[in-house]
Amino acid sequence: MKVLKFGGTSVGSVENMQNVKNIINDGEKKVVVLSAMSGTTNHLVAIAQNIADKKTDEALDSINNLHETYFQTVDKLLFNETLNKDVKAYVSDVFNFLIACTYKEFSKVLENSILAQGELLSTYMFNSYLKQEGVKSALLPALNFMRINAENEPDMESIKAGFKAVLNEAEPSDIYITQGFICLDVNDDISNLQRGGSDYTATIIGAAIKAEEVQIWTDIDGMHNNDPRYVDNTKPISNLSFEEAAELAYFGAKILHPQTVTPVRDDNIPVRLKNTMKPEAYGTLINSDHSEVGVKAMAAKDNITAIKIKSARMLNAHGFLKKVFEVFEQYQTSIDMITTSEVAVSLTIDNDANLENIIAELEKIAHIEVDKNQSIICLVGHCIVNHPETHKLFQILQDVKIRMISYGGSNNNISLLVDTKDKINTLQKLNDYLFELVV
Ligand code: ASP
Repeated sequence: MKVLKFGGTSVGSVENMQNVKNIINDGEKKVVVLSAMSGTTNHLVAIAQNIADKKTDEALDSINNLHETYFQTVDKLLFNETLNKDVKAYVSDVFNFLIACTYKEFSKVLENSILAQGELLSTYMFNSYLKQEGVKSALLPALNFMRINAENEPDMESIKAGFKAVLNEAEPSDIYITQGFICLDVNDDISNLQRGGSDYTATIIGAAIKAEEVQIWTDIDGMHNNDPRYVDNTKPISNLSFEEAAELAYFGAKILHPQTVTPVRDDNIPVRLKNTMKPEAYGTLINSDHSEVGVKAMAAKDNITAIKIKSARMLNAHGFLKKVFEVFEQYQTSIDMITTSEVAVSLTIDNDANLENIIAELEKIAHIEVDKNQSIICLVGHCIVNHPETHKLFQILQDVKIRMISYGGSNNNISLLVDTKDKINTLQKLNDYLFELVV
């Protein structure tokens, strides 16, 4: 069985839902994971924020507007009167729930319950649309099997057992539809797999059922070798290893949730990235194949803070780095990049929630300098560190100021830290040097 995940734009319009129907209606058994319609989760986040800020009128206005938009979509999608009425009743229940939320005390659980409505709406609507089109499908409620543990990691044993149980209870069908993103936590409260988490849902299910393949359908034809939002002449990459895909996703390639490949890597279940609007395009295949070497792709991650820790006490001393790392450990802040010299160590973090405390602790042992608004540019490819073309990337030193370089930490990754204002220029120039092969 395959698992196919369709993102927000794929279910964001009637036309795109028709594309999805055509893609999935091929007689093969599959699980279809859906995101919320594009824009919905952002609206729900804003509604939850209004409730938190006690801006009840604004929350109610947004709820009413969104309700109206959903009714319009239902009218465009469902001409079958019975189904149209049934889905509108479901949609109204959801919006009545949201209205009731505006009178409740704000909490994380309330927020998560609000955010979950987007996927509940899209799956209910799409399942009804398939019914109208004579395509047999069954809805599998994700909240009956998708679970995270106390560390917010998927609870695989419970998911495997739960998925089997819901599958047994469901009407036999070729197409099983379920919600991405949403899950229950250890307290049985509604939670989620973080923004963009529907990709992760798909690979978690893929691992739970040992799927033959997981497909992530979006609105772009695969992972590109550079960020198409900022750089011209980017190209889709036909093959990536699990490691390369994980690095790119972690370091900012927006097409994939950072955890996507984790559940399927050990079982070597391939992940294919496809374009709903252009199903014939090859896309990107992610598997354990390492046959291509050299720089394949780059991605950039913003909102990075660089911390320089300078101390004469580092000279010939052991145990200094241990003390530094203990501070980050104490404040549960992970470090992304690190470079050292005799008297200083520079490192980066992407979570600055505890920055003030961290600095206060570090100042007890060293002089500290902090630079905010930095971006990590991550270059990825098999054996790039030894590849004869890789030196070309250092031509970038003539174009922009590089704050840090991490080379040799692994054979497959080279990271550069630049000021965010230099990011686009750096990506474009690296693209020219490495992919357009400017000499
Ligand atoms: N709807 C959620 C989001 O917008 C999850 C997803 O689309 O993957 O983040």
